[in-house]
Amino acid sequence: MYKCLDCGSEFLSPRMREWKEPQGEYMGRPVWQTMRLEVCPDCGSEDFEDGEVCPSCGEGWVEFDDELCDSCKSEFSEMLHIFRKDVESSMKITDEMFEELVTEWLERN
Ligand SMILES: [Zn+2]
Ligand SMILES: [Zn+2]
Repeated sequence: MYKCLDCGSEFLSPRMREWKEPQGEYMGRPVWQTMRLEVCPDCGSEDFEDGEVCPSCGEGWVEFDDELCDSCKSEFSEMLHIFRKDVESSMKITDEMFEELVTEWLERN
């Protein structure tokens, strides 16, 4: 899964752009070299980032170390918000609890 840094488009595989570039002459004939470059299928930018498919929705793009895509994250934080209201306001959610919540939430979906 890739995400374009220029247009924000998310795609499974980049488009292969091919063109020929002159590489001088050989025996009086021009020599061409075929160049290949992977680009964003939507805008043609070379500026895209590798990542993974979101494990929760199976659609969104996530960074390799991230658990959820942006849309799932906002959904999750909403859930977390509701959860926070249930616990005492003085109580802090630890990283461990957070992990547990994410896991639980992933299983539910
Ligand atoms: Zn793009
Ligand atoms: Zn997602």
